Amino acid sequence: MDNEKTREELLKEKLFYKKENTFANADETYSKRVSDYAEGYKAFLDNAKTEREAVCESIKMLKNAGYTEYNLGDKIEKGGAYYFNNRGKSLYAFRIGEENPERGIRICAAHIDSPRLDLKQHPLYENEGLAYFKTHYYGGIRKYQWVTIPLALHGVVTLINGENVEITIGENENDPVFCITDLLPHLAKEQVSKPMGSVFTGEGMNLLIGSQPFGKCDEAVKLNVLSILNEKYGISENDFMSAELVALPAGKARDMGLDKSMIHAYGHDDKVCAYPALTSVIDCKDSEHTVMCILADKEEIGSDGVSGMKSSLMVDIINEIAVATGANASVVRANSMCLSADVNAGYDPMFPEVYEKRNSAIMNCGVVMSKYTGSGGKSSTSDASAEYVAYIRRIFQEEGVIWQTAELGKVDAGGGGTVAKYIANQNITTVDLGVPVLSMHAPYEVIAKNDLYETHKAFCAFCK
Ligand code: MN
Ligand code: MN
Repeated sequence: MDNEKTREELLKEKLFYKKENTFANADETYSKRVSDYAEGYKAFLDNAKTEREAVCESIKMLKNAGYTEYNLGDKIEKGGAYYFNNRGKSLYAFRIGEENPERGIRICAAHIDSPRLDLKQHPLYENEGLAYFKTHYYGGIRKYQWVTIPLALHGVVTLINGENVEITIGENENDPVFCITDLLPHLAKEQVSKPMGSVFTGEGMNLLIGSQPFGKCDEAVKLNVLSILNEKYGISENDFMSAELVALPAGKARDMGLDKSMIHAYGHDDKVCAYPALTSVIDCKDSEHTVMCILADKEEIGSDGVSGMKSSLMVDIINEIAVATGANASVVRANSMCLSADVNAGYDPMFPEVYEKRNSAIMNCGVVMSKYTGSGGKSSTSDASAEYVAYIRRIFQEEGVIWQTAELGKVDAGGGGTVAKYIANQNITTVDLGVPVLSMHAPYEVIAKNDLYETHKAFCAFCK
């Protein structure tokens, strides 16, 4: 047998691009690192289902790593590691490196809000002996996926005296859960013939929360619900007006597949990028660069508002860093680089018709870079430069990061955006990078552990 490669094979090896699968050269050490990292992520995810919870969990990790709380106007020193808690809903962590910040800050920016059902300001009502909460969905959900599954309530009620009452119901084994009911198949003859998008309406997403009356009166079931809430949390119906309560899928992140190679959980988008963004900034404590991790809110609804990426806060903090280190803020931003850390659609063999396979993210083929996002003719994307993508290729090659590039589905099949453009609009070189996800925006999404680990490696290579 002649084992010599043919001329053609050799030339192909030299000239062809070959997508690398993370399992191709995975040894026991690699698998152990992947699974250890995934355990940390699952624990984070279970305690960080909302942006507020994610901020709290992240602050715990930052404090453990020696980061101290910073407020605008506070002193910033070289070598210092700080976090800025923005109203409990978004978070900026940064470490000032030895290098002059005018050489640029390395920024990893992810978002910590996820699609869910927010309660309305007047949520509670009773109908035929059943009590409900009215909801207004948050982010791009496919409504039919959210009915009949067990939902938990998370959030805060701010009382008129300013005190915050935190509420989490439905996560402990003995807690009750809630759900939105659906029609039985026996009576769904007309419903099933309707177009999928029209079966469930926004106003139909009402959460069933009680059925037992309080004594004998009008609206006795509603009264009983309020009486239970009042006893446990000291709140009354008026307090819903100053509350942020959300219904989201109950339960913990679970390993998925017989081989446990994947994770099935609520909120991978975008905690699966927020966690590696945070761990890599924490881990790169010896970096000479100034590094920053941004965990933004409101991405799922357009990044507006004080906790969204369109706010001036990032620029304000960079200005503060510049002033403290005697740097020119415009130069700092012009030389800064950002990885916009967000999930991408994993290629789903169940739905090949919406993907263009050559330019799709394949599960277990590593972290995915998107030079551009947007929709229909690259509309609304910052589209990273060839030079920046080449730089990222170089550092990934040096650090052995397994990665791939992808677009979100076929041209004109739809599309989507991230926080990348809001950061790029501030004159910061930015490209999208993240984890491929199956069933994105569904109550429970799927990711591969190897891809998660490669994402952590990628951010480390960037911050180093
Ligand atoms: Mn996202
Ligand atoms: Mn999303």
